[in-house]
Amino acid sequence: MMQDSKELESAIRRIDNRGYKAYQEIQGEYRFESFTLSIDHVQPDPFAAPSRVRVKVPLSAAGFPAELFRGRGRGIAFCDYLARRFHIAASEGAGEGGGRGKSGPIGIERPGQEILERTSVVIRDRQVEARIVVGLPAYGRRIAGAQALEIFFSRIPAIVEHTFRAPRIDLDALALHVQVKEDADHLRDLLEEHGLVAFVANGAILPRRSGVDERPMTGEPLVPFRSPPSLEVRFDLPHLGTVAGMGLKKGITLIVGGGFHGKSTLLSAIEQGIYDHVPGDGREYVVSTRGAVKIRAEDGRNVQNVDISPFISNLPFGRDTKAFSTADASGSTSQAASIMESLEVGADLLLIDEDTSATNFMIRDHRMQELVAKDREPITPFIDRARTLFTRYGTSAILVVGGSGDYFDIADTVICMHEYVPDDCSARARDISCASASRRNREAGPMEDFRRRVPLRESFDARKGRSEEKVSARGLHTILFGVTPVDLGAVEQLADSAQTTAIGRGMVYATRYMDGSRSLPEVIGLVCNDIRDRGLDVLAPYPRGDMAGFRGFELAAAINRLRTVAMRQVL
Ligand code: ADP
Ligand code: MG
Repeated sequence: MMQDSKELESAIRRIDNRGYKAYQEIQGEYRFESFTLSIDHVQPDPFAAPSRVRVKVPLSAAGFPAELFRGRGRGIAFCDYLARRFHIAASEGAGEGGGRGKSGPIGIERPGQEILERTSVVIRDRQVEARIVVGLPAYGRRIAGAQALEIFFSRIPAIVEHTFRAPRIDLDALALHVQVKEDADHLRDLLEEHGLVAFVANGAILPRRSGVDERPMTGEPLVPFRSPPSLEVRFDLPHLGTVAGMGLKKGITLIVGGGFHGKSTLLSAIEQGIYDHVPGDGREYVVSTRGAVKIRAEDGRNVQNVDISPFISNLPFGRDTKAFSTADASGSTSQAASIMESLEVGADLLLIDEDTSATNFMIRDHRMQELVAKDREPITPFIDRARTLFTRYGTSAILVVGGSGDYFDIADTVICMHEYVPDDCSARARDISCASASRRNREAGPMEDFRRRVPLRESFDARKGRSEEKVSARGLHTILFGVTPVDLGAVEQLADSAQTTAIGRGMVYATRYMDGSRSLPEVIGLVCNDIRDRGLDVLAPYPRGDMAGFRGFELAAAINRLRTVAMRQVL
């Protein structure tokens, strides 16, 4: 039942200085002048996870032009923008009674460089709703009433005013946010129409500030992207107008060039081209096909019943590679497994960097073929399978290969990076390939259809011996699924820890579709459909603000890395 905010005020005055447990009395919904405050869950003690609170503002009162949030894509960009505004207002201490530090007790998920569907700000029932956490203040274990009053009656109203009232917001910046997302999405549709797998706009800024800072590099000597003339394509975008840049065609593309000349940076930008980026990121118009999957070696990972036989066969002691399982994969078997798992869920572009690949998985040169006969080498290197993956499954590849010209034989396009500037060397590479034939033999036999897998529900237990399942994210790269940690350190296309949280929930949610006969791609497809139709909230039993949108590929990657997982193969 909705109460007036005066009730909250008198409740806080009543419980002031009492034991912390008395805070439970303020749980409920309160009507403020311009918003509704919903205190959903009150923390049991000052050191527990902070309390969950929602703030709802009627869209009519907020005064935003409807064209900025109408439709799914715009709604996502609109909410993403407001989540950023809220985060800034909260961390800059809007409404704070001066003199205190920035680490206020009001928290909202901090968005990164990607425009994502987020549960921190959503539109529901014609209201825009922010989901925040509030650390309810205490002196020791006693309620600090005056500070609680300041939070609810000064700080939150000020943040709401800064975030959700159209007159206070830069509507041009908001519109740009929406337009940039819509253009990027449109560009991705155009890729398919034009037989491309990636597009990198001229003028794009690809390098990032550091390995742990995804913001664009600044300062000298920064080289904006410039397409080689022969690969340049132009598109008309709904908002930006004409954009020119490098179009990479389906098939096999190599990125070559000297060390430190920007090869991996280009590949990383393409990897992240599955996301829409915020204005000013530098990669707003760098996009890749929605089925692009980064593949890397990941020794030590768990593999469960994966058919890796296209790449690995004749293992010592006759181990089966059509249904290969291990709790401790090698570099090459892990890379083979990751490729087959990605194909299983429909990847249409594999992205591979020599920096993070197993050398013996990528190439076996002539001399090694002489010394170690094929029947004594279990590995069919990627160079001998890449073509088949494309002709048979339509799966393209973009490879950073600085060290092996043997790859010229299979490449459709060869891009050479020199001082961060790409050059189209396809013709020259083809000439070299003809003039000096590689002496290595092609090692691949015919490729049989690989088998799909059915995940078995019993193997997903996140309950830790209690009645409710316990799943949480620890940063970007770890999910704690019950008592089992899931290591996502090698899942490089995860961009935001809120995605990791959502994927953890997604693993639990997915079990409802595991009936012993649905394959993994079918299960993932059903989960993604539900999210698309009903929003990320379907994943959680109560409204939570700490989730962000993710692809089926990353959900599959997490399931594949759950060490308890059991899968049955089907033909
Ligand atoms: P490679 O993979 O060819 O060895 P990297 O892509 O790792 O090279 O890039 C080497 C360094 O150059 C990195 O520190 C990166 O940030 C920087 N860099 C990459 N592209 C650019 C660019 N366009 N302008 C300026 N610096 C860049
Ligand atoms: Mg590199």
